Amino acid sequence: MIRKNLLLCKLIRIKTSSKSLFDSYMAQFQPHRETCPICGGTGNCHIHDYYGRSIIDFQTGRKLKEDLCIMRVFCDSCMHAHAVLPDVIVPYSSYSLLFILFILGEYFAGLHTLEQLCERFDVSAKQFHKWLALWNSHKEQWLGMLDASETDNNDFFKQLIHLESYSGFAMEFIRLTALSFLQSHRNPVLIRPKNARYRQIVFTPDIFLF
Ligand SMILES: [Zn+2]
Repeated sequence: MIRKNLLLCKLIRIKTSSKSLFDSYMAQFQPHRETCPICGGTGNCHIHDYYGRSIIDFQTGRKLKEDLCIMRVFCDSCMHAHAVLPDVIVPYSSYSLLFILFILGEYFAGLHTLEQLCERFDVSAKQFHKWLALWNSHKEQWLGMLDASETDNNDFFKQLIHLESYSGFAMEFIRLTALSFLQSHRNPVLIRPKNARYRQIVFTPDIFLF
């Protein structure tokens, strides 16, 4: 996959749906300018194909399920295909980043019980606890064990949604851990070429929607 910086703004400012942001972003995306996260070559990618997936999102107080058309690009240098995933999408998750953060934020603010939140957002307690465990694990990887234990979840949440550029954080998190923030599954192990591994370091060029 190729992660892209879409959220070059404060998350608190976002009022549109993840699908609308995604579609606006992909309308401007230029595959031939990308750097391959496997071989590191630039200028060797072209559109390979598209696949459909749905995303559960949250907008103006309502949960909604929308369809996305994901582009895959093919690198002629190392012969790998990459899905192009702007950072409103959490890899392998059916829920949008904004949905997951919103429900966690509501919980950290302490205004609702877990039961109330799960009912309101129509998610299982099991799912919620998975997100909470990921949050705690990734918060610790980002801040370090000591600082993480001393940083209140609600404070860390507020820091994230008020960052001038959420993408700046998301990109550095990937560079640090090789995983996206709140990504639960590991990245696939590559069979070829020998010793190849997925490690995205280059995220440019950026497209500015805000
Ligand atoms: Zn390549």
